[in-house]
Amino acid sequence: MKIAIIGFGAAAIGFIERIKNENVELHIFEKSKDIYSSSISGIRADGKLFVSTEMGGDLEVNPVLQKELVDFWISKTNNKTFETGHSFLNTEYYKQFYSKGFQPVLADFYHLGTDQLKEVLFNIFEEYSNRSNIHFHFNQNIQSIEYNGSEEQKVNDQHFDKIVIAVGRSGHKLVKAIISKHPKLILDSTKVDLGIRYELPNHIVEDLNKEMYEFKIKFKSRTGYMVRTFCNNPSGYVVTENYGDFKTVNGHSKLKDKSKNTNFAILTTVQLTEPFNDPIGYGSHIAKLSNLLAGNKVILQTYSHFKNSKRTKNLYRVHPTMPEDQFILGDINLAFPRRVIESIIDFIENLDEVIPGVANPDNLVYAPEIKFYSNFINNDFFEGLKFIGDCSGHTRSIIYATAHGYLEAEKLIKK
Ligand SMILES: Cc1cc2nc3c(=O)[nH]c(=O)nc-3n(C[C@H](O)[C@H](O)[C@H](O)COP(=O)(O)OP(=O)(O)OC[C@H]3O[C@@H](n4cnc5c(N)ncnc54)[C@H](O)[C@@H]3O)c2cc1C
Repeated sequence: MKIAIIGFGAAAIGFIERIKNENVELHIFEKSKDIYSSSISGIRADGKLFVSTEMGGDLEVNPVLQKELVDFWISKTNNKTFETGHSFLNTEYYKQFYSKGFQPVLADFYHLGTDQLKEVLFNIFEEYSNRSNIHFHFNQNIQSIEYNGSEEQKVNDQHFDKIVIAVGRSGHKLVKAIISKHPKLILDSTKVDLGIRYELPNHIVEDLNKEMYEFKIKFKSRTGYMVRTFCNNPSGYVVTENYGDFKTVNGHSKLKDKSKNTNFAILTTVQLTEPFNDPIGYGSHIAKLSNLLAGNKVILQTYSHFKNSKRTKNLYRVHPTMPEDQFILGDINLAFPRRVIESIIDFIENLDEVIPGVANPDNLVYAPEIKFYSNFINNDFFEGLKFIGDCSGHTRSIIYATAHGYLEAEKLIKK
């Protein structure tokens, strides 16, 4: 069977790993120019792998399989070194957060670090490219495929028995092109996570960082919105993420090079109803408005100014880890909806009761941090065309994306 896989990220790797020893010929079309490209794959930053049934995607993945996939990624590092932690294994912490209205999320973490991810990806690529049934085609930014729902399945004019779309979030244009031809593929499209990246000195969250590495909590704010922490980076760095026509913020940490600050995202899930059907458009407009105010940069503000809607002009004790030329001191309230801002403030004020110092006036707030949910795609709709990983809307993490690819390959083998 001849299979085209568009994109070489976590989901594609899960798919290939499961199917590579079957009677298949795999052709991988990847838009990046080679394996060293900084734009290839989502597994480039941070590399926190987690085993959890409560986060990572809207997909059921057995924790045993999740741990096997974690071991797979670790096995591809050169030195097999990683940091680890357990979110809320300690019942005292669990009770402390729970008593203040937070829902703690249970998870085990294995942190590889940005520095090790490059070698992981390269080692996997090298192993696959030595196999006679796997063929890589780099520099192939696939804009459309020919698919009529039955026989006609072509990528770059070549016929395939199956086409697997694994383009992650950065491939949203290809997914959009396909679903505009086949709108029945979409099951749901109404959600977006809007929020900020919060940065504070390590010592405030030191105990939590030591105990869990990453603390994941959810909170129903007084506005009615659900707010959650995401991607905690002890001794980490806040960075910009470039989407081409706008910039957002993100965070990561390295295994060796440590900063004095911890950062994590605080995200509000905005779920709208009909006739709304463009969460990516809504999130992008808010990001663009933030960038417009900041002269095409991101906005940085102290927490007290964020709370009181005043422009920040000076910082005090907390020094940003983001390089100075990438942000403007400003007022996020000019770009974000009031209900989102109020939800974030409510979250921080309540968190301060569990972790004193979280609401210090000089802690740093960066915006916009936005997590887009891809359209939720119905993979049962077409036999010959499957969507795996983040582009399918079913996953939001390395392990869930890898598992999604792995499980789709398994279904195919069983058929
Ligand atoms: C900064 C950052 C840090 C993150 N940190 C973590 C973390 O620590 N832990 C975690 O679990 N998750 C993390 N994530 C999320 C994680 O990276 C993704 O959930 C995961 O990589 C999704 O895998 P995927 O295979 O679906 O997509 P990706 O891994 O994004 O792979 C998609 C591939 O498709 C290629 N592509 C895109 N469009 C086309 C096209 N039209 N034609 C050909 N090729 C195309 C891309 O170049 C890319 O190589 C992070 C994400 C970001 C942005």
